[in-house]
Amino acid sequence: MSDLNPEAYALLASAAADPVTYAQGWKARTGHPVVGSFPMNFPSELTHATGALPVVIQESRTPITEGRSLLPEFYCGYTRSLADQAAVGELDVFDAFVLADHCVQLLGAVDVIRWSIPSKPVHFAQFISSMDDPWSGAQVRDKIGSLRVEVEEIVGTVVTAERLANSIRLFNENRRILREFYDLRRQGVLRITASEMQTLVKSSMVMDIEEHTAILLRLRDGLTPDAAAPDSLVRIHLSGHFCAPPRPELLDVIEECGVLVVNDDLYHGFRYISTDVPEDVDPFDALALWYLDRNVNAPCGTRVQRNVDWDSYLVSSLDDSAADGVITLMSKFCEPLMLYYPELKKALDGHDIPVLLIETEHEGLAEESVRTRVETFVERIRRSKSTVPSLA
Ligand code: SF4
Repeated sequence: MSDLNPEAYALLASAAADPVTYAQGWKARTGHPVVGSFPMNFPSELTHATGALPVVIQESRTPITEGRSLLPEFYCGYTRSLADQAAVGELDVFDAFVLADHCVQLLGAVDVIRWSIPSKPVHFAQFISSMDDPWSGAQVRDKIGSLRVEVEEIVGTVVTAERLANSIRLFNENRRILREFYDLRRQGVLRITASEMQTLVKSSMVMDIEEHTAILLRLRDGLTPDAAAPDSLVRIHLSGHFCAPPRPELLDVIEECGVLVVNDDLYHGFRYISTDVPEDVDPFDALALWYLDRNVNAPCGTRVQRNVDWDSYLVSSLDDSAADGVITLMSKFCEPLMLYYPELKKALDGHDIPVLLIETEHEGLAEESVRTRVETFVERIRRSKSTVPSLA
């Protein structure tokens, strides 16, 4: 059973499950625009500083219909869902779209949005993916500058350093509180399921940040963290899954197999909240530093950095959380993850860390098949941990 206050949690769960309705309500309440951004590196603080609501656009749970003819079947579920949402009018609440990433499939989806909703501005500032070249910092600063001009024009408000500094402070506070939940879970003194943790993070991507923080504080202040997790559960780190959240039912099936999720590097998880924006430098420079720092704090298979790699990070974070193994969740046809996974697997194998790969699809969940595979994986870990009696 969860340790979270059900009433406060329900407010976050409702926004996470239906961000469009939340955005419509917010817009009606405030009269301000709603600006959609796409994963995984757009700084929401910049949109917030204009007075608009920044929303990371989510994969819809509805089956893909119109979108089927707009993007090929071999695009990931997130991008095909975006195309579908644009075609059927689910994105109409957004007044503009901004993005700062370069995955080829995402660009395809954004082109569909441009084509389907030509009246809405779409601005793309491609952040450099090579993080530690001599020109990386200057290029990112330059792109932040062009994003600033664009969001100012869209919303009709100038982003002053003061407004941006205030937004940075609010988002940092929110991330810090979310990381407290992570810390308590890692220590084993807070019972919070993987799908609940996903709700906490996902709702922070779509809600008014001050409202979200106020609810988080209610949740945190109602905690009595002392519940030691049963030893019988196998401690697992969830890895992978970029732009869309894995289905909550999948996370529940995994945990029903005797698993305790103690940490993750999912985008709808620790990756999103891993890094604060510095508050002691010029706020526009700070957004550039945040982008460069993120890949150090939570390395990503889509970035390149000589002194940082995801597999070493994963191995050392397993030490910190005392996880017994890794379950990698891979969205079908997610090219960056498919290309990086062999490196991850090689590193984990090299350290005798058990790993299980589960591929996910937009269209559904092969629940019993997943259950059998996770149960087998858990059993394998249990056996490897049990003491083998000596024959001597
Ligand atoms: S990074 Fe992966 S999940 Fe995200 S848009 Fe690209 S292919 Fe899809």
